[in-house]
Amino acid sequence: MEFIDCKAIAQKWKDEIKSTGVNACLYVISAGDDPASAAYIKGKLKDAEEVGFKCIHKHLEAKNRDQLLMNLTFLLNNLQYDSRVDGVIVQLPLPFSITFGDIKMWLSKEKDVDGFLSDSIFDPCTPDGIVQLLKEINVDIDGKLCVIAGRSDIVGKPLAEIMIRENATVALCHSHTPSKLLYQLAQKADIFVSAVGQKDFIDSSKFKTGAVVIDVGINRTEQGMCGDITINPNSNDILITPVPGGVGLLTRAMLMKHLLVAYQKYHTGRQTR
Ligand code: NAD
Repeated sequence: MEFIDCKAIAQKWKDEIKSTGVNACLYVISAGDDPASAAYIKGKLKDAEEVGFKCIHKHLEAKNRDQLLMNLTFLLNNLQYDSRVDGVIVQLPLPFSITFGDIKMWLSKEKDVDGFLSDSIFDPCTPDGIVQLLKEINVDIDGKLCVIAGRSDIVGKPLAEIMIRENATVALCHSHTPSKLLYQLAQKADIFVSAVGQKDFIDSSKFKTGAVVIDVGINRTEQGMCGDITINPNSNDILITPVPGGVGLLTRAMLMKHLLVAYQKYHTGRQTR
């Protein structure tokens, strides 16, 4: 069993972005007091600075749902037409049970660098990062069996779509998939992706020799952060992403890649500012 050096790959992507000398601008909107969101935003600000981008963080305060919705939609609407801003993200979750669906019509698809809109010009960062990682380490996806656990709109479902586009044979498992079937599929998988969010969801010894295993899960325990996969030293010869220091770093670097593309698309044929 060998861990994939996601840290080095994310660094390589960030170095490539920095070497372009582009000064793209990311606008991050947040609201509420979710501690995980605060940490994610800090990471995005750090990444943007590292690659030479500008990152503006606007935290919205509001007394109630209607007021927050009004502030959000007003800001998002203005940002659609602000030529100084290349990418806009709304950090989820939002308070007062406001969902992405409530605000999505005010976000432009060209600036949706998270790739959350159904007609976004980007794939969501996590699945996009996973596929780019597989390409980076020369995994031939074409014709392979890719088993995905988790069917969320930001990881499992879009990943299945991208993998089909890449000519993989895809099995998308979810909470209604019988465990026995999931284990049978896992044993056959050339590529296995776990995006469930359950510590010890599956043991690394379940995978066949040569499998590439991607652990998307983030589980916070008293011992620290861990993924979905139990690392078993008695596993076959597999490649696996670590947690922490795995898919999360690739997701963050992918966001910067999207921002670069958004900038380049906007400025194609125009003078840079
Ligand atoms: P989610 O939390 O919205 O849903 C969990 C998914 O797991 C559901 O689709 C459900 O059907 C599936 N599931 C539950 N039990 C299952 C079972 N027994 N067998 C198969 N599938 C089962 O999904 P999410 O938002 O994609 O998040 C999943 C995990 O990935 C979380 O831990 C999250 O924190 C993490 N995550 C990490 C990153 C990253 O960049 N590293 C990005 C996004 C999400």
